[in-house]
Order: sequence, then C-alpha cells, then structure tokens
Amino acid sequence: MLSQIRSELSSKNARLVAVSKTYPASRILEMYNQGQRIFGENRPQEMLEKHTALPAEIQWHFIGHLQTNKVKSIAPFVSLIHSVDSLHLLQEIDKQAQKNNRVIDCLFQFHIAKEETKFGLSEQEAFEILQNPAFYALKNIRICGVMGMATYTDDINQIRDEFRQLKAIFDHLKANFFSKSVFFSEISMGMSGDWRIAVEEGSTLLRIGSLIFGDR
Ligand SMILES: *Cc1c(COP(=O)(O)O)cnc(C)c1O
Repeated sequence: MLSQIRSELSSKNARLVAVSKTYPASRILEMYNQGQRIFGENRPQEMLEKHTALPAEIQWHFIGHLQTNKVKSIAPFVSLIHSVDSLHLLQEIDKQAQKNNRVIDCLFQFHIAKEETKFGLSEQEAFEILQNPAFYALKNIRICGVMGMATYTDDINQIRDEFRQLKAIFDHLKANFFSKSVFFSEISMGMSGDWRIAVEEGSTLLRIGSLIFGDR
C-alpha cells in the first residue's frame, strides 16, 4: 500500500506524510527502510520520544492541536507544524525557533468541516493575522501554506466541496499576502478515507495513517 500511494503521489507532485501516531517506533522504522522520510504525529511528547529513538533523517510533521506550553519540546527538531490556528501560537513558535537558532515552517489550519469539533481558522481570521503588524515582527517562522480536515462523511460531494474551499483560501492568501513567496506552496489535505479526492483537488501533502499502518 505504501509504495503504491507514494508512486501515485509522486506523479502528482504531492508528498505523503505517514501518520504514525499511536504506532510503535518499530513500525516507523519498517517504513523508513522502505524509503519513507516524513512522519506525522499529534502529541508533542510522543513525537519527541520517537524523534529521540529513530534516525535523524526523519522529518517530523506536527499535525495535532498544539498548546503553547508544548511548543518548546518540539521546537529543536520539528520540520513542519500543520496546525497553527492563532497569532499567539505563532508568536510562541517564533520565540522557541529563535532560541534554537532556526526557522520553523508552519501551515495555517482552517476549519472547513461542518463538524463543531475540528479546530482551525476562518479565512477572515487568517486575514486578520496577516494584517497585524505583530505578524511581520516574526522572523523565525515561515508560513508555507494551509491545512484542513474535511467532514467525516460518506458524502463525496461534500468532501470535494470542502477541499475546494481550502484550495480557494490558499489561492486568496497567495494572491493577497504571499505572491512573492516561493515557500507558500503547500496544501495539506486528505487522509486515509478521502486522499484520492484531495489529490484531485490539488493537495500537496497527504496525511495518511490507518490505510498504510493498519487499524489503530
Ligand atoms: C490521525 C490524523 C490523520 C490520519 O488519519 P487516518 O484516518 O489514520 O489516515 C490525518 N490528519 C490528522 C490531523 C490526524 O489527526
């Protein structure tokens, strides 16, 4: 499954984030040995432990809700944070990145699902962050694109519609704030159940767990 998904994605210029949350380091190493380098985790402590135990070449993507007091533990090594949903969080990431003498890549997470429980910004809120002078004081973060989760449903049209909303938000942000940034290029959308639709709608980062690792 892993190699099939990876070859399908590489022909579309998209990359696989193997979502390894809850799976042991040994399973990650199996996939690493098959060439997979990007792994996604949603708990800082778990990601830190796996980072310490596994090869340094692994790029760790943080995909879960991130509390400001947990940023410090992942700042030395995290490769991309998919889940930025406030200026306050971004300021803390910038501060911890600066302490580690590095720049941390981030995505803005958007609320595109019809469900109450999913985190994320509205387009309006993202515009407000990007119009706030405080944002431009941040020198150790780099906004590389957007992330979103579709509603958990069998309704393919609804899922497609939500992915299109996220793509439209990406296009608006690109045109209004990042037209000169080569880094603003990522659209993180698509999971085990909806990844093919996400690819069709322009996803560049697919966050897939159970489909490749097996049921949790
Ligand atoms: C768990 C998780 C995934 C992967 O889910 P699967 O259904 O296992 O593919 C993707 N994105 C986020 C934010 C997750 O928490």
